[in-house]
Amino acid sequence: METPATVLIAGAGIGGLTLALALQKHCGIDGSSIEVYEQATAFTDNAGGAVGLYANGLRVLRDISPELLAAVREAGYDYIYRRWLRHDGTEVACARESALTDEDDLQSIGIRRWKLQKALYDAAVAAGVQITFKARTESVTTREDGLVDVAFASGATRTARLVIGADGLKSKVREAVVGPLSAEFTGVTCLMGAAKVPSKVRGICFPSSSTTKNHACYYPTGDGEQIFQLYFPADTPDDAWGALSADEGLRQCSELAAKLEGDGWDASFVEPLRSAENVIRVGLFAREPLDAWATPSGRVILLGDAAHPPVPYIGQGAMMAMEDVGVLARLLKHHCRVGAAAFDPSDASLSAAAASYQALRIPRVRTILGSSHTLGKTQQLRADSWWYNLKREWTIRLQVALYGTLPIMKPGAGYDFASEVDAFLADESDP
Ligand SMILES: Cc1cc2nc3c(=O)[nH]c(=O)nc-3n(C[C@H](O)[C@H](O)[C@H](O)COP(=O)(O)OP(=O)(O)OC[C@H]3O[C@@H](n4cnc5c(N)ncnc54)[C@H](O)[C@@H]3O)c2cc1C
Repeated sequence: METPATVLIAGAGIGGLTLALALQKHCGIDGSSIEVYEQATAFTDNAGGAVGLYANGLRVLRDISPELLAAVREAGYDYIYRRWLRHDGTEVACARESALTDEDDLQSIGIRRWKLQKALYDAAVAAGVQITFKARTESVTTREDGLVDVAFASGATRTARLVIGADGLKSKVREAVVGPLSAEFTGVTCLMGAAKVPSKVRGICFPSSSTTKNHACYYPTGDGEQIFQLYFPADTPDDAWGALSADEGLRQCSELAAKLEGDGWDASFVEPLRSAENVIRVGLFAREPLDAWATPSGRVILLGDAAHPPVPYIGQGAMMAMEDVGVLARLLKHHCRVGAAAFDPSDASLSAAAASYQALRIPRVRTILGSSHTLGKTQQLRADSWWYNLKREWTIRLQVALYGTLPIMKPGAGYDFASEVDAFLADESDP
């Protein structure tokens, strides 16, 4: 019989690759015993999309290795400012991003998704992690002997001692934990793209309009490059992460640019749309947070979007995936590795690790998702009502003056996963 994989990770996205590195670093698992299976045929340079990375996620990368953090920072671009603007370009308030953390190497950055993935992928390959492309997980079954069988779309199968579902919003692994589940379209769609147009100010900005039903976010990802995310109501749901062809992307962005221009949006917001590249149209989906992220045996565990739907308004979806990784790796180390002994995922140790993981992560993610929904609602309301917008502008000004930034941003970036795990384990061992 083939030797079961020690750890099998479904999905080589941000969460899956970061977990492979964290397990190798903290749990003493040899890279060759960590198998990652990804449905994509390969990673493509210059593919679309970007994310903002904040101190809470960057802490997890630093904990894996300062070199990994440095490589990611090198591929990204520091924000200095966080600005709230009106659609005509006038400023409501401006905060320094350093209000979120005073640690230099944890300052927020914007980064193209493919560059982040490449930094993680290169590090994982260097660590000897086994990554297989064109391997779409179809089903996951826990056997009577406790091992887990994974079946792939190709018809191949693999058995593992521990399976992690890092396979995103439409996770197949999740079905083994909570059964089939669908997410509901929120009625909001986002058009997101990159443009070789320098940002006027080095930072992230949020233009909002009280006369048009759009709100947006722009941030730089390099010298002379910025990302735009335009949110607008839509009747029909778009599939998550729909990359558009170059022509179709430019057509949709130009159409939107003409509309925004007609509605009085400042040229600095319209221009990037006219030279858009790598356009993605993504419908925003939501569902109630899950109460279970693992099977009772702890042999199948979910993380990232597979466990919780992303709500991008607060820029914390990928950060939640990274926090999941940081917490899970530490708990697996605590429960499944005694001293310098080899990683031993027994039934008892895995179910204890999974129980602690859920106890720590489910309430935390619920809070951040709640804040993200609140922020999203205020953005949409600003687009709906001039009166609400006026009140909101004064609230933003006041909060920035009092707290240095919007206080709703602080619990996200401020989370130190390592201290949280240490405090949790200390509480657990104190009768
Ligand atoms: C418009 C928008 C803007 C956002 N902006 C930000 C931001 O600024 N900051 C932030 O932190 N977050 C942001 N997010 C959220 C963030 O993108 C996600 O939360 C993050 O990508 C989750 O990482 P993940 O690894 O869990 O999933 P993913 O990144 O989706 O990775 C899942 C991986 O699994 C693979 N896969 C899927 N199904 C299977 C299968 N059956 N078998 C094998 N492989 C499979 C996929 O191909 C993919 O590689 C944003 C989201 C949206 C929609």
